Amino acid sequence: MARITYVNGAYLPHDRAGVHIEDRGFQFADGIYEVVQVANGIIVDLDWHLDRFEYSLNELKIPMPMTRAALMVVMKNIIAKNYLPYGVVYMQVTRGVAKRDFAFPRDVQPSLVVVAMRMKPWPDAMIENGVKVITLPDIRWKRCDIKSVSLLAPVLGKQQAKEAGAFEGWMVDENGFITEGTSSNAFIVTKDKEIITRAKDHRILGGITRARLLVIAQEHGYILKERLFTVAEAKASSEAFISSSSTFVMPVVQIDDAVVGDGKVGAISKALRKAYREFAGI
Ligand code: PMP
Repeated sequence: MARITYVNGAYLPHDRAGVHIEDRGFQFADGIYEVVQVANGIIVDLDWHLDRFEYSLNELKIPMPMTRAALMVVMKNIIAKNYLPYGVVYMQVTRGVAKRDFAFPRDVQPSLVVVAMRMKPWPDAMIENGVKVITLPDIRWKRCDIKSVSLLAPVLGKQQAKEAGAFEGWMVDENGFITEGTSSNAFIVTKDKEIITRAKDHRILGGITRARLLVIAQEHGYILKERLFTVAEAKASSEAFISSSSTFVMPVVQIDDAVVGDGKVGAISKALRKAYREFAGI
């Protein structure tokens, strides 16, 4: 089945889908994106994703490219046209196409791209044995709460992690506190079985999976605290994991050279992963 992608009002064969070279996303990374998980044809936590989508646009003073209802129709069409019962839908909005000038252009239409992506399931061994993360300096700008397409720091960080044989890079702010992963949120579990993740601020993206896990953790009677934690505390923790729309809950068993807990996937990480998957129907 041919892959179909939505670009500015048209459903096109994926390999012919493109934007102009003067698109401000291409020239300035002047845009935002969203990634949603599709399970059994249904988008997981769609309302929360659309809230964040609108928030990011508002913060950059980019108008919504279409109403929320119309956007939902486009997403539904893309899921149907690509026959995507499970996978990911990627949406990107930029300020539009205009002559290269830093200040906002007047009278431009935002560009909208909606893409269906198939995802291979993560190898069972990763879920069962856990993954390694490395720590690296957080060199990003100070508005990481905006889901901006300006992703150079995460690109460099993820590459560094890959070269170190790690699954993810945990970024560390100038005070030694972990902010988040290059494309995920970071969690640890203390010896007292408290789940810890950094509180939402401008230094992290408010992950939708993170938000869902806060609810799930509470429903399951876990104590979850949103507070700062250092690299040293993370290395001395009894469990660690990351969350994102594509990994759900991915257990972490090594941070740099430090083994987390007993080096095995922790019970709380396991239980949260199971509960999240049940919730999402994945
Ligand atoms: N933090 C960053 C920097 C991310 O890029 C992502 C993934 N988009 C997340 C956190 C996780 O967000 P979500 O759970 O909404 O996928």
